[in-house]
Amino acid sequence: MIYLDLAATTPVRREVIEAMWPYLTSEFGNPSSQHELGFGSAQALVDARRTVARLLGTRESRVVFTSGGTEADNLAVKGIGLANPRGRHVITSAIEHPAVIESCRYLQRFHGFRVTALGVDSQGLVDLAALADALTEDTTLVSVMYANNEVGTVQPIEQVVALAGSHGVPVHTDAVQAAASFALNLTELGVDALSISGHKLGAPKGVGVLATSMRVELEPTIHGGGQEGELRSGTENVAGAVALATALEYSRREHTAGTDGVDPLAAWRERTMDFIGRVLAAVPDAVLTGHPTNRLPGHASFCFPGTSGESVLLGLGESGIACSSGSACVAGKDDPSPVLLAMGFQPEVAQTAVRFTFGIATTVQELGQVADAVAATVSSLRSRFR
Ligand code: PLP
Repeated sequence: MIYLDLAATTPVRREVIEAMWPYLTSEFGNPSSQHELGFGSAQALVDARRTVARLLGTRESRVVFTSGGTEADNLAVKGIGLANPRGRHVITSAIEHPAVIESCRYLQRFHGFRVTALGVDSQGLVDLAALADALTEDTTLVSVMYANNEVGTVQPIEQVVALAGSHGVPVHTDAVQAAASFALNLTELGVDALSISGHKLGAPKGVGVLATSMRVELEPTIHGGGQEGELRSGTENVAGAVALATALEYSRREHTAGTDGVDPLAAWRERTMDFIGRVLAAVPDAVLTGHPTNRLPGHASFCFPGTSGESVLLGLGESGIACSSGSACVAGKDDPSPVLLAMGFQPEVAQTAVRFTFGIATTVQELGQVADAVAATVSSLRSRFR
């Protein structure tokens, strides 16, 4: 099978399994236990937190391990919103992951917040003028994703931070998709909160991180025994934390130029552009969704008018190719993607979306094979639909 659905989830890296294995077997202690097995687990957690803090550019005390990206987003939006509500106004974008959108809605429904959802242009870039207009000294938080999961567009976060900063408003960015491609650093970006998820990076499902700056406080969303500095109660997922730290470290290493001087990220980006070009050339009327250049490497998303995304997926599946019809997180829903609708696509076109997401190791040959299969599948479906 050619797996082009890495934005949905990634296989666990061998090195990650090796690193986490002891904490599932011989070193299985509860980090709160006052005996040798407990101390070993507690130390593993300290080490994992130190690694994540170093890689994400914050203090160890500002790294909260969560059950994944969804919980990290919930903790960021609700946690910052409730700890320092100011004028109860959150600003987000119309193309956020449901984990952010629904957390904003929660603040609206149960805590009287006003929510501004910024529009985006046809390439998925957030409307910065609307952000400037919406910001006031009373705004609690701006939450804008680093890169979109469905269309791959990378947002101008530095500009978002500059605008929000001029009103003293903290910024959260959902970097769940971006963390696999970019060496993101909280301090360098100037953001106050950043979410990542292990299973998009080569760690298992069920572990994530919310990293914050020293400037924001968090109100916990899960209460109990006070683990994770009182910010996220529950017995810690030690193996998961070790896995996430290891996966983040390996993905950073993978992006660094080797002794041959080849920049792996640039090569990955080039393969992506080449694949996009091949699909657009091979399929008449295919539309690239998202920004043509400001997009995640390894992310190519299209609409194929005159088909349905679902049938293209099934057709490609028969050729041994795994991809997705937009976002796996809202899988099972047949509605056209709210992201594409916000970008101005007509519902009948939005329903034809297909997303290919591939890694740094996917070869030109594999991508060529996929482009040929896409052309054949779309052409056969169009002749059937006519
Ligand atoms: N945010 C974005 C942008 C995502 O793409 C996803 C999952 O696909 C999430 C959040 C949720 O992460 P998790 O699956 O770890 O809960």
